[in-house]
Amino acid sequence: MEEKEKQAAAPEAPAEAAAPEAEVKPGRKKDKKRRGRLIGVILLVYLAVMAVAAVLLDGRHPLVELNGPAEMTVEFGGEFIDPGARAVSDGKLFGRTKRALALEADRPVDTSRLGDTALSYSATVLGKTVRAVRIVHVVDTTPPVITLVPAGALTSWLKGFEEPGYSAADNVDGDVTERVERMELNDKVLYTVADSSGNVGYAERPIQFSVSTPAISLAGGREITIQASMVYQDPGYQAQDNLGNDLTEYVVVSGEILPYAAGDYELRYTIENEQGDAAIARRIVHVEPVPLPEVVMPEQKTIYLTFDDGPGPYTDALLDLLHRYGVKATFFVTDQYRGAYTDCIGRAYREGHAIGVHTLTHASDWSMYSSEAAYFEDFMAMEEVIREQTGSYTRLFRFPGGSSNTVSSFNPGIMSRLARYMTDMGYIYFDWNVSSGDAGGTTETWKVIENVCGGCSAQPVSVVLQHDIKAFSVDAVESIILWGQRNGYVFAALDETSFRPHHGIHN
Ligand code: ZN
Repeated sequence: MEEKEKQAAAPEAPAEAAAPEAEVKPGRKKDKKRRGRLIGVILLVYLAVMAVAAVLLDGRHPLVELNGPAEMTVEFGGEFIDPGARAVSDGKLFGRTKRALALEADRPVDTSRLGDTALSYSATVLGKTVRAVRIVHVVDTTPPVITLVPAGALTSWLKGFEEPGYSAADNVDGDVTERVERMELNDKVLYTVADSSGNVGYAERPIQFSVSTPAISLAGGREITIQASMVYQDPGYQAQDNLGNDLTEYVVVSGEILPYAAGDYELRYTIENEQGDAAIARRIVHVEPVPLPEVVMPEQKTIYLTFDDGPGPYTDALLDLLHRYGVKATFFVTDQYRGAYTDCIGRAYREGHAIGVHTLTHASDWSMYSSEAAYFEDFMAMEEVIREQTGSYTRLFRFPGGSSNTVSSFNPGIMSRLARYMTDMGYIYFDWNVSSGDAGGTTETWKVIENVCGGCSAQPVSVVLQHDIKAFSVDAVESIILWGQRNGYVFAALDETSFRPHHGIHN
């Protein structure tokens, strides 16, 4: 069939050739069109290739530039002001654009953390992303602050330096008071403290010295008069330096005073300042004897029964007996049974008997005579027992062993001194002028009766010594009372005006 068509078509060719003028014009036009299209396509392809080449050659990309330096420092806790960055696109062929690109940047720098932070800024063009990085150092250059509380110094050499107090705070580490180091120099105290970044804070406090001699003031004046007593109570004193420091505790008091012995004494109150200058205040102390009441001798024949060393197991019965006969007596008491019979003191006092001090313990080694202080200590303790029992102090007393004792001879002269001192202090001591002999002479009741009645009949006023801790002696009392009453004697309790028999002192 194709052959046929070719064959069929062939005869037509001459026909075409027969009319060439008419047939050529449309054919040329078609060729021109094709050629134009081809050229257009080639041109387009060329342009496209050129465009791609231009883009490739241009190499367009973002350009990110930091404003400000690439490394920056900011103080801990401070505000970081980001200088930012700028971005444009850039290429080799067409150069930079003027239009700024959109930038992405990190969140703000946290200045509450020490250390380095990398801040990055990025921009994207044609899928190309470029970033610029800035390093931000968060640092601590702030030293801790030391606060002196209170500021300034008040001190002196005498008192030494007393640290009034301080505190230290750091912007990063907080309270660093415990890290403060102190150094005491001659004229100031230096305080230093470092924080964890090595910043050092300083403070200093001047040390002031008093420049004048401290002043001593004596309460009660430079001359005082007191009554003799066992304990000296100074009216007081004060010392101050020119800075107002109370230096009283540095005053040294010297000079001997025997407050229990009448006489004139001088006390010196001395204080030295830093330069060794001494301030001295003197006080004259006049110790006066306590006046004793006059002795009033009774008009009637009188027997003062006195009982030593109790109260003891027989004291209650003795008090019953005395009550039955309406007889008043005197008890020179002890507490040698440590409270077992102590309440008898109160009973005796309430029943009208006289109470005097004998000794607290009646120590068998007579140690109350080892010194004045020992005697006073024993005496004052017994005084207190009596005050608790009776509500009042007594001025009456009897020396253990009597004022003539020689059991105290291990301390030569002690009885002479004590007799004088006790009298200066207004205490009244009683020995006796009738001894019952119950302290060694006898252990029999009839002999006690004989001794007492015999002794009393020889004189109008008798002070009788018995011991109510001895049953055979207490047993003698009823007979003595009956004898005395039959023979016109009055039985009485001693008081401060009573006749005071004194033995000669032998030590
Ligand atoms: Zn005694």
